[in-house]
Amino acid sequence: MFEDNYRQRGLRNKLVRLLRQKGITDERVLTAIGKVPRHVFFENAFLEHAYQDKAFPIGEGQTISQPYTVAFQTEKLMVQPGQSVLEVGTGSGYQACILLELGARVYTIEYNRVLFEKARKLLPKMGYRPHFHLGDGSKGLPAFAPYHRILVTAGAPVIPEALTAQLADEGLLIIPVGDREKQVMVRITKKGNKLIREDFDYFSFVPLLGEQGWKK
Ligand code: SAM
Repeated sequence: MFEDNYRQRGLRNKLVRLLRQKGITDERVLTAIGKVPRHVFFENAFLEHAYQDKAFPIGEGQTISQPYTVAFQTEKLMVQPGQSVLEVGTGSGYQACILLELGARVYTIEYNRVLFEKARKLLPKMGYRPHFHLGDGSKGLPAFAPYHRILVTAGAPVIPEALTAQLADEGLLIIPVGDREKQVMVRITKKGNKLIREDFDYFSFVPLLGEQGWKK
């Protein structure tokens, strides 16, 4: 079992208040962030960083996303209970836990074997059970498509066609798109054979690799 003490719960509540101040309004998203113990994803020596609003290294040159970014992407995804959600870029597994707290059926795919193994071992111990997959998520995960929602947690050079193809009708895709340093958060809504694009703020993600991502 993991320790989740009074102090950690207090820090999490403080983080939720900060996210609210920064403009996150979806109460379900804020409740999920208030519930998932982010400190469990941190080594003991770095515990004090767990509830700061910043990204943090998780090894393999990758990061656990900043809480504000997680909240922003999740809010824009408007997940309803029972919906099937594909997450591209499992990383630590934290975002997958947030999606599970919203009642989604979560498929998460990671390119890096070390991170995949680590998340696959850790999450069930915390009581979270997404479907874990190892592979190139820039091609989506066709075996379980279509998805009501797709969330990409790495910066893409373009919107991979495989992802829009695997989106259900009326489905939403959230993806950061841009160069390697800076990306605009894009939401695609699929309506029949139409794709409607909305652009939001700029963010900075690690690159989406793979066939429809960056080449290393
Ligand atoms: N969602 C994660 C979390 O909650 O910790 C943060 C993800 S981190 C910012 C981006 C992740 O995308 C990295 O773990 C990276 O290995 C992964 N990634 C990069 N390209 C990928 C691809 N083509 N398919 C799947 N995962 C990919």
